[in-house]
Amino acid sequence: MATMPTYDAVIVGGGPAGSTCAHALVKAGLNTLVVDSVRFPRVKLCAGWISPPIWDVLELLPGDYTGGLWPWRRVHIHFHGKRYTVKSKGYFIRRYEFDEFLLRRSKARVVEDHHVRQIEKDADGYWLIDGQFRTRYLIGAGGSHCPVARALFPKPENDPCGTQEKEFEGDPQEIAACRIGADGEPQVLLHDDLGGYSWNIPKGSWMNIGSGTKIARAVVPAWNEARTFFEGNGGTGNIPVASRPALDKMKGHGYRVFEPECLDHCQHDGAFLIGDALGVAQPLTGEGILPAVLSGKLCAAAIAEGAPESYPRRMTDHPLFREYRLLHNLLVWEQKRAGVRNENPRPSRFRDWLVVQGFAWLFGAKRVPLGWLLARLLGNSI
Ligand SMILES: Cc1cc2nc3c(=O)[nH]c(=O)nc-3n(C[C@H](O)[C@H](O)[C@H](O)COP(=O)(O)OP(=O)(O)OC[C@H]3O[C@@H](n4cnc5c(N)ncnc54)[C@H](O)[C@@H]3O)c2cc1C
Repeated sequence: MATMPTYDAVIVGGGPAGSTCAHALVKAGLNTLVVDSVRFPRVKLCAGWISPPIWDVLELLPGDYTGGLWPWRRVHIHFHGKRYTVKSKGYFIRRYEFDEFLLRRSKARVVEDHHVRQIEKDADGYWLIDGQFRTRYLIGAGGSHCPVARALFPKPENDPCGTQEKEFEGDPQEIAACRIGADGEPQVLLHDDLGGYSWNIPKGSWMNIGSGTKIARAVVPAWNEARTFFEGNGGTGNIPVASRPALDKMKGHGYRVFEPECLDHCQHDGAFLIGDALGVAQPLTGEGILPAVLSGKLCAAAIAEGAPESYPRRMTDHPLFREYRLLHNLLVWEQKRAGVRNENPRPSRFRDWLVVQGFAWLFGAKRVPLGWLLARLLGNSI
């Protein structure tokens, strides 16, 4: 035991939540270790959409980021057979580069290729990880299968959403020839029942294509429809013919959107959950990176300021999570109301237009009141 390294904080998982937490803890002078099961850079299933508020949370300017960055100002949305091009604002990155950038800039000590399995407490009240690392504070940032969450916190009651996605490299000229709009401009297919959406994003010589649905089992049929749509759309399609076989084998992954109850179980006894390990994605759009890094930063601030028990309050009081709570409550209320009235909204071009505008609004991380209106109109959307 005497030779075992003891840290102020050990973070399990070096994704955006873990690395942002590590960055803040190291900056505050805490001896911090990040442990991850794989070696970075690593593939992470994700479309790579980040919304503008993330730069302030990361304390970075877009120009400080050294990886590929695709700013966009218009989103092309297809809904009920019609295409809309709407002004909005955001960025795309490749997670392969972005996560490594954030992890290295944290300046924390990083142990890669170590899959955490065992978590226990020693006689002095320190956390012991796999009998190898000893720490006062243990932060679970291991995504939706986080070992810290599994070992120390109750299982969340809400089901994860479903996603299927692929990022692949193709011929840049072929990609340019079949995309809609400029490089980096997202093409989004809102599912007819508003139970999810699919995307097709050109990033230079890369493309990222996939689907997400609120109900996990709905994702495979939704993806099959989206593939047919993107391959056939506009005659020539929006996926280069040579790249289409890359979509035969899709990978899937689920994660949880925010429910206010998750904050009742985000911290106890020197252990904390952040990011997907906690389940904090935006309730309507599923945006997960921004809330993940924010939760990491708020957790680090609570620890660094010597008030670790204040982490849940910092989360509850933060305007972003206050808004997520509002959206969640409105969705629950609307679902109940629609259930009671057995509503099936009549087709309406105006309603479709409003839905599209609201989606573009939220996609640019602009928020309530239009988000509030959207939540009321959509009822059971993601
Ligand atoms: C298909 C798909 C598309 C998405 N698109 C977007 C998008 O465009 N924009 C957006 O904002 N969000 C998107 N999301 C959500 C977003 O990817 C997540 O919310 C985000 O990655 C959460 O970050 P995190 O740091 O909490 O977890 P992760 O990024 O999952 O990082 C967790 C880390 O923990 C490590 N780990 C896991 N288990 C162990 C263990 N036992 N021991 C050690 N290490 C471990 C993993 O290797 C991993 O590196 C998408 C999600 C999916 C599935």
